Amino acid sequence: MTTPPASHTPLAFARARALISASALHHNLKFLSGKAGVPLLWPMKANAYGHGLEVVAPVAAESDAVWGMAVATPDEALKLSAVLRGLHCCKPVMLFGASFPEEWPALVEAGIEFTVNTLAEAEALPPGARAHLKVNTGMHRLGADPAEAVEIGRRLEERGQLAAIYSHFSEAEAEDQTLSWTQFQTFQEVVRHFPNVLHHMGNSSAVLNLGPLPGVDLARPGLSSYGVMPPIETPELIPAMTVQARITYLHSAAAGERVGYNGLSTLTRDTLIATLPVGYADGYPRRATGQAEVLIAGERRPVLGRVCMDHMMVDATGLDVRPGDWVTLWGHDAQGNALHISELAAWSDMAEYEILTRLGGRVERFAAP
Ligand SMILES: *Cc1c(COP(=O)(O)O)cnc(C)c1O
Repeated sequence: MTTPPASHTPLAFARARALISASALHHNLKFLSGKAGVPLLWPMKANAYGHGLEVVAPVAAESDAVWGMAVATPDEALKLSAVLRGLHCCKPVMLFGASFPEEWPALVEAGIEFTVNTLAEAEALPPGARAHLKVNTGMHRLGADPAEAVEIGRRLEERGQLAAIYSHFSEAEAEDQTLSWTQFQTFQEVVRHFPNVLHHMGNSSAVLNLGPLPGVDLARPGLSSYGVMPPIETPELIPAMTVQARITYLHSAAAGERVGYNGLSTLTRDTLIATLPVGYADGYPRRATGQAEVLIAGERRPVLGRVCMDHMMVDATGLDVRPGDWVTLWGHDAQGNALHISELAAWSDMAEYEILTRLGGRVERFAAP
């Protein structure tokens, strides 16, 4: 496999890498923006769903489908806005999460637009702050009660600080979309009072299940933009992430030997064991033990025994492998074989969201074509 281009946050001796395909991201963003019929406020929270903020930011800066970006915490927002400044990109950065008044001066200084949930927040906003008023239409996580939202919005408008009004679907992946349409109706009843600001609503499942939403100016698909969309069959999406680890050790063990903690796997044949220097501390799910497979030397092979904190063992019997070779944990290998993250999610009874966002700091992220 060819050497990937340099990462933005290099480790001295990375043992595992995540290759992030810029062309896959561009393709997905364009597809989703087309589906929604509007530009995107692109969710890049949790280190861009584990893909690496710095690796993904150039795509956000370049993509015509992306109006702006959103993250969850003030620290993420400050980090992203610094990265974008380095790229000479002036697209807006928005904070989905609630914030504390003591955080506001730094956020305003960096030009970050933030979420307002209450009248008290609206009245205490510092000058220069741009607010996205969030309306709770049924998720009950953040957002003003719809009955109070109009008053809060008016106050923000009087102050010249209302940038947008938004809400969030809570069950848009469900087969029955009755609740989603009720949520959307509630949203429409609020936003019709504010025709001069942006309206945004629509996570991945809403974009894919509901299509364009009348009167909505921006959509916010997250997971699907990274090419992953488990409950909704969407062959158009291309997974952007491939995760690989290098073999650090090879040894043979006889049939009948037990491998790893608690001897969960007993070898049924004489076996060449390849040891990989990644484990659950790197985000590989420990719960996948007993079911997981990897791509090694162009073949699918089982993970042997329990996934350890820093290691996992793989059956490499009969394969032409050497220490230093790259093994694919999910994504595509050099031979073009695919192992979809949704397979790993099923083996570990985890959501793809969890696997992506738990990918650890010892895994170096690289931009790939
Ligand atoms: C995370 C998030 C999204 C994106 O959700 P996906 O399911 O990943 O598409 C959209 N809006 C808000 C407010 C979010 O927090």
